[in-house]
Amino acid sequence: MCVEAHLCRSILKFPKLEEGRCPAIKQFSILYEGEASLEEQLEPVKEYWRRWESGILVHVFMTAGSVAMAGELSRNIRRIFPAAAVIGCCTGGNILNGDVSDSGTLLIFSVFEAVRVETIALPMAPGEEEKAAETLSAEASRQEEPKAVEFLVTVMKMDVSRFLSSLCISPLQLPVFGAGVIGLDPVTWEESAERAFLMTEKGGVENGVVAVAYYGAELHVCMEHVQGWKPLGMVMEATKSEGRILQKVDGEPAYEVYRKFLDIPKDKNFFRNSLGFPFLVKWKGQEVLRVPSAVTEEGYLFLPSGIPQHSKLRLTYGNPGEILRDVRLCCERLRKFSSQGALVYECIDRRAFWNTGIRQELRFFHQAGDVAGCFLEGEFLGTGISVVQHECTLLIVGMREGSRKELPPMEAVWTDLEVGSEAAMLKRMAIFVQRSTEALQTAYQQMRRLNRELQLANEQLMRISKTDELTQLFNRREMERRIHGALEEAYRKSEDVSLILLDIDYFKRVNDTFGHAVGDVVLRRMAEIMQEAVRKGSGEAVGRWGGEEFIFLLPGSNLATAVERAEEVRCAIAAERFPNAGHQTVSIGVASSRDKIAKEIIFIRADEALYQAKAEGRNRVVGREA
Ligand code: GH3
Ligand code: MG
Ligand code: MG
Repeated sequence: MCVEAHLCRSILKFPKLEEGRCPAIKQFSILYEGEASLEEQLEPVKEYWRRWESGILVHVFMTAGSVAMAGELSRNIRRIFPAAAVIGCCTGGNILNGDVSDSGTLLIFSVFEAVRVETIALPMAPGEEEKAAETLSAEASRQEEPKAVEFLVTVMKMDVSRFLSSLCISPLQLPVFGAGVIGLDPVTWEESAERAFLMTEKGGVENGVVAVAYYGAELHVCMEHVQGWKPLGMVMEATKSEGRILQKVDGEPAYEVYRKFLDIPKDKNFFRNSLGFPFLVKWKGQEVLRVPSAVTEEGYLFLPSGIPQHSKLRLTYGNPGEILRDVRLCCERLRKFSSQGALVYECIDRRAFWNTGIRQELRFFHQAGDVAGCFLEGEFLGTGISVVQHECTLLIVGMREGSRKELPPMEAVWTDLEVGSEAAMLKRMAIFVQRSTEALQTAYQQMRRLNRELQLANEQLMRISKTDELTQLFNRREMERRIHGALEEAYRKSEDVSLILLDIDYFKRVNDTFGHAVGDVVLRRMAEIMQEAVRKGSGEAVGRWGGEEFIFLLPGSNLATAVERAEEVRCAIAAERFPNAGHQTVSIGVASSRDKIAKEIIFIRADEALYQAKAEGRNRVVGREA
């Protein structure tokens, strides 16, 4: 099926403004509950509009009804305003006069003097997201430069990320904003996908996108958004994620996060229970919130906008105090901009979070001019080249024709939460958890640092306890430990093991002739030569046995091999010219054994061999079987 755009235009002519007159937008918000006739209720709008006979755009937000009823309503509006452009959808409640309305239909009339609008309706089936985005981009860019593009999209059946990533409306810097539409009174996610509908002046649309492009040199747009959710707890990683399914977090099924930290059961109420605790993720350089909609059998989470694999994420919780401050600042900016009419698209999750306290965040709107809108699911804002999908967010778009009017600063409003209210309690709890988390994190980092220091100190201590300070060879205790271990193993495996005991000849003379310091240098240099003789990775080791005596451990060497190795060491030392001390020699006793009885005897045999080498004239090697 091909995606076909049903393009329909509102009034095209621009009214002639009186010389020197500054144009302005007039916004009328009317709650239509069917008690009086539509015609009667719209009389004040008609009255005003007659003066200019200019462009008129109607936002229709229905809290009840069907796609057929949406079509009928748009026909009725067109009967009264034949050239009106209409855009609308079903909502999860409307926002009007700083309050929530859950009944009737909210009609927001924007009467323009110098702005032209054009609506576009694009029915779309799942899988057609890219194509629909391309069609919308082309249609919106076709006319002379638009100043802003707004769209509503049924989010549950579509992959909105795919739709947004293909959206590219020129000029690229123009403001693009929109919201996601879900069905009326959804209990389950599937129901919500079924019951959603959209509309334009051409009638209702079941699935797809409806958009409105705003044109006109005099139009100014101010896009603002507020989150207010703050991260809690540890930083985690999306270790496995595919499209809109977040499979694993820190290697475990993603649902475990909600079980472990929040005790939320894995059942059909998961969506409602987890609503107040979205994930915070960095997406295209911005911090966005992501609310899981459902949990699968395996414990994977379904997120309407997905989380890219390897993203870092944290759980968040709304702190009512911070939220109010952010909303207030946002309204102040809108007032500075001198908005003549503003649309608000607020995430339905925020409503669930505030519960009956929602008015506390809506009451600031009074001071930002005419503000009206509704609760939807998913807030989109960005430029023509990149539109970012938000959740749990409040999006306000103010518009103005002509120049800015200086307004006095916003009156000091009471931003505190009602004492003893549920929200005030939430604020305290959120602060408590936030501060505890910070304290824990600081303690954790400190602990890790201390642990690292301790580990280093331990390693150093360990090294020192094994090492002879002068020669940096193993000390006697370490050599004894190694020799005992090697002997045990050799006996168990019936393998050979050899010891080489080495003593410097007439070393006393070196000290006596050249002084102790020169003697030390000789000891150090000899230690180097001996260390070089050790084969790495063979279990061989050499250490200082005491004074001017050294010992080699050669596991796996029989007497003949060990005598050969000892001979090599003796020759290397005899060939060396030591600083000041010159030529020096050593006498060596070698003992070898694989017999269990000889365990204690091997030391005695090595000693005897060394004694014999001394007795036979020094500078020689004598070997003994233990
Ligand atoms: P022999 O050939 O019989 O072994 O004669 P020798 O002089 O080497 O033996 P003796 O046991 O009489 O002397 C050992 C000398 O080693 C005495 C001692 O001052 C010296 N010595 C022991 N440890 C050190 C040390 O750490 N530094 C220095 N410079 N000399 C040491
Ligand atoms: Mg000695
Ligand atoms: Mg000696």
